[in-house]
Amino acid sequence: MSNPTGTEQFRAKLRGELIEPDGEKYEIARKVYNGMIDRHPRMVVRCADVADVISAVNFGRENRLVIAVRGGGHNAAGLGVWDDALVIDLSPICYTHIDPEAQTVRVGGGCTLGELDHSTHAFGLAVPTGVLSTTGIGGLALGGGLGHLTRKCGLTIDNLLAADVVLADGRAVIANQRRNEDLFWALRGGGGNFGVVTSFLFKAHPIHTDYAGPMLWELDRASEVMRWYHDFIVQAPDDLNGFFAFLVVPPGPHFPEQFHNRKMCGVVWCYAGPLDSAEEAFRPIRRSLKPDVDLAGLIPHPAVQSMFDPLYPPGLQWYWKADFFNELSDDAIEVHIQYARQIPTNLSTMHMYPVNGVASRVSKAETAWGYRDATWAGVIAGIDPDPGKKEVLAKWATNYWEALHSYSAGGAYVNFMMDEGEDRVKATYRDSYDRLAAIKSKYDPDNLFHINQNIKPR
Ligand SMILES: Cc1cc2nc3c(=O)[nH]c(=O)nc-3n(C[C@H](O)[C@H](O)[C@H](O)COP(=O)(O)OP(=O)(O)OC[C@H]3O[C@@H](n4cnc5c(N)ncnc54)[C@H](O)[C@@H]3O)c2cc1C
Repeated sequence: MSNPTGTEQFRAKLRGELIEPDGEKYEIARKVYNGMIDRHPRMVVRCADVADVISAVNFGRENRLVIAVRGGGHNAAGLGVWDDALVIDLSPICYTHIDPEAQTVRVGGGCTLGELDHSTHAFGLAVPTGVLSTTGIGGLALGGGLGHLTRKCGLTIDNLLAADVVLADGRAVIANQRRNEDLFWALRGGGGNFGVVTSFLFKAHPIHTDYAGPMLWELDRASEVMRWYHDFIVQAPDDLNGFFAFLVVPPGPHFPEQFHNRKMCGVVWCYAGPLDSAEEAFRPIRRSLKPDVDLAGLIPHPAVQSMFDPLYPPGLQWYWKADFFNELSDDAIEVHIQYARQIPTNLSTMHMYPVNGVASRVSKAETAWGYRDATWAGVIAGIDPDPGKKEVLAKWATNYWEALHSYSAGGAYVNFMMDEGEDRVKATYRDSYDRLAAIKSKYDPDNLFHINQNIKPR
């Protein structure tokens, strides 16, 4: 494989590092979070700053290289790395700057959620993001951002005030409500299609300590729990979030021993309202449906955000299938329970994240996110450390998804999708797709940024 033209000049210009297949850091640089992804990029450029990103975009475009952009490298489909591509790795661009008076935070495009939470917590603030702290803010925010604060503060994109973006032609621009408004609209849900975001400016919320944690019930009670949860969560106070899960109980000291390695169902709660009202918020839950395991209590917000980190370190095998859901019919509940009984490995799981509360009250036209009217974003994840289990994980997730899909709302949350083709991307953006395609034509007419849930230029 010959080197693209100007490689040495490109290397010399960088503040960051250019890593090639013969370099000793290559094996680490090509790895992403999902151990199932085994791709060999042509080069990885670890960008130290915006100037490096501009050089990398120009170098890739001029040499007609496939460009993959990597934020936290968490994407299940492995969209942060591609065979024979130039990978623009943003992980060194990680900084935060907090304005405590304005309650805003600027965060570098390569930060993880944990890095963001660590900084904001010192100011008693939090930005709504996702539930695993090693996830990148880049991919998560551009796809939407669902997590423990969705019902109280909306999606991550509902809290985005501005973004600095390097476009396909190498120009660096600001997108917000007044400048490049069309780009700003598209960035809020449209993924990495429109450019490389080198920094995000978010609104932060005064949240320091939550009342949070999982409650679990025996699988025999799953039908009763799901029916109750279906009615409860849509009318719960905005301060209270709870995602539903099927899981295998980890054999850890927090869980009573008699439940270790047992398949159970549960809700992972996060109440982020006034703490003196927390017990009251949980009273109807504990009264209606006494849990078999109840671990909800006071906990600092960053600890909630990283609660699952030890269970899910980088390098595991992940196979995901996803859909949005409007409701949980009795027939759908039966399908869920059938596949919950067949969970193939101890880490495999199914989650249903609520899209209600504040997130459902943001108007559909406000952002590119297509499913404000859904009640849940569901994801089925087959997970295990053993690469030999790949087929088993994929088979369980696919069969479960196929059995459930007819009860779904149609599309899926882009950040929970694998590489599933254009029709699925269109089903996900619905009415927003045509406008996104027009904006793509304006900012990236040659589809330079296509290693993503791709929106094709018109
Ligand atoms: C274990 C796990 C837990 C998760 N939990 C949640 C959750 O709670 N809530 C939720 O909403 N999602 C969740 N996700 C999904 C997550 O949002 C996506 O996987 C997301 O793509 C991760 O972003 P990343 O930057 O780490 O990914 P990467 O793999 O680095 O990138 C993913 C995509 O985003 C693009 N991209 C990334 N950064 C930038 C940038 N700065 N500028 C332009 N394009 C960029 C990339 O080009 C690529 O197409 C989870 C994923 C995993 C694996």
